[in-house]
Amino acid sequence: MHTFFSEKKKDKYLVIEGREFKHFKVRRISGEETFRVIYQSELYLCKAYKVEKEIVLCNILEKLPVEEVSTSITLYQCITTDIKTFEEIIRYSTELGVKELVPTFSARSFRNKKAVSKKMERWEKIVRESMKLSGRTLPLSIAEPIDIQRIETNHDVNLILDNFHEGKSMNEIDINSKDYGIVVGPEGGFTEKESRTLMDKGFESVRLKPYVMRAETASLLVCGAIINLCNP
Ligand code: SAH
Repeated sequence: MHTFFSEKKKDKYLVIEGREFKHFKVRRISGEETFRVIYQSELYLCKAYKVEKEIVLCNILEKLPVEEVSTSITLYQCITTDIKTFEEIIRYSTELGVKELVPTFSARSFRNKKAVSKKMERWEKIVRESMKLSGRTLPLSIAEPIDIQRIETNHDVNLILDNFHEGKSMNEIDINSKDYGIVVGPEGGFTEKESRTLMDKGFESVRLKPYVMRAETASLLVCGAIINLCNP
C-alpha cells in the first residue's frame, strides 16, 4: 500500500502537498483506493476526498496501530568508502527500527568531511523513502558525523563488531537490555589500534560466524537480530 507524508491538516482532512503531491500524482491513485498517511508520527488509513491542482485532501478512514520498537540501538557505522553502500545501510537501519545512526570517520573509512556534510540532506531523504516503505512513523535519526576516537560507552550494552578479535558470539549478547551502542567498521575493517582502544574503553567484541562479512551484512544481521529478539 502506498504511503505519503502530510505536514498539515485542513478541517478534518490531511493535506498532501509539495513533493509528496508529486509522488501522489505519479502513483495514479484512484478515488476508491486506500493509502497510508504519516502525520505527526501517527499513521492513518485514508482515501482521497479531493484532488486539487496542487494538493490532495485526504479523508481519514481510521488511525492505524503504530509498531513501536522499544529497544534503542545507536549504530556507529564507519562511513564506507563506497558511499552507495552507506545509503544501503541507512535503508536497512530505517527498516529495521534502529533509533540513531552515527556516521563515523575511522582510519580506513571514507574521510572527506565536506563531502559527507553535503550528503546529509540526501541521507534524510533516503530515511523518508524507507519510512514510507516500512510504515515507520518516527524517523531514524542521523547524527552529526564523529571521529571514532570520540565514541564512548554511553549505552547499557556497548558492542564492537570485530572480525579479527575473538569475541562473543551472537547468542551470548545480552538481549534483555533496552539500550545498545554498536560500532561497525568500513569495508577495510578497523585498525588493530582502533579496535583495541574501543575494547579498552569497555566495548565488548562480537564475532559473527562463520565468515567475514561485508560491513552492511554485519550491521544488518546484528541490528535485526537484537531488535527481533528483544521485541518478540
Ligand atoms: N577487509 C576486512 C574486513 C572488514 S569487514 C578484514 O579482512 O579485516 C567490515 C566490517 O564488518 C568489520 O570491520 C566488522 O565491523 C564487520 N564484520 C564483518 N564480518 C564480521 C564478523 N565475522 N564478525 C564481526 N564483525 C564483522
